[in-house]
Amino acid sequence: MNEEQIQVYTLNKLQMYDECPQKYKLCYIDKVHVIENIQKLKASKSGTNLHNIINSYLKGMDVQKLVAALNPNEKLLWHNFKNSELKNMHCLESEYTFNLKLDNYWLTGRIDALFENSGSYIILDWKTGEKFNPEQVKFQTTFYLLCMYEILKAKNYIENTTQLSLYYMDLAANSCVKIHFDDDLYIKYKNQILEIINKINNSKNLFCNKTDKCKLCKYYRVCPYY
Ligand code: SF4
Repeated sequence: MNEEQIQVYTLNKLQMYDECPQKYKLCYIDKVHVIENIQKLKASKSGTNLHNIINSYLKGMDVQKLVAALNPNEKLLWHNFKNSELKNMHCLESEYTFNLKLDNYWLTGRIDALFENSGSYIILDWKTGEKFNPEQVKFQTTFYLLCMYEILKAKNYIENTTQLSLYYMDLAANSCVKIHFDDDLYIKYKNQILEIINKINNSKNLFCNKTDKCKLCKYYRVCPYY
């Protein structure tokens, strides 16, 4: 590889390799394009609408007309957002895109929002779909906490890991899953991310991780292992 070539790793790229190296190969090396299931597309459009309204609201814009145009289910999610515990916290960033250097690699990503509350910093992620399960976003948790800790530490906003946490706001269930950070998790998450990057760079055999979840994989129909 050209030494001057910058290697950039996104959440999606690292997560996909972690889930299944074969899936990573189909997406990023073979560049296979598959069309998402129509129901999933509809749900994701609805989630995007709400994310956009929340983002505009947090940026201080008038969203009344946008809220009035939401369907009843979306209005309920909006109501749950407006009445959550966040109303007492200070929003520092909304739809925040970040880039940071971790050892010799660049990581890039975007969080929904960053809040501050009495000297602690909270990464916010809105979940608008049904049946949110934090186990399914474990890698996202790893990526967000590690990256935002490095960024906030570099900016001298925080001094220790315990000042950072990640909240998943499940708007459909009107509940919040709070994930706390500490020194042990910092070491674990950093090693985990660097290990995946090393595997991506050194792996010649992009094997499959056949699991019972393969039928839910969007590459199932084109996967050579089936
Ligand atoms: S169907 Fe299974 S083995 Fe094939 S790419 Fe998807 S997750 Fe990997």
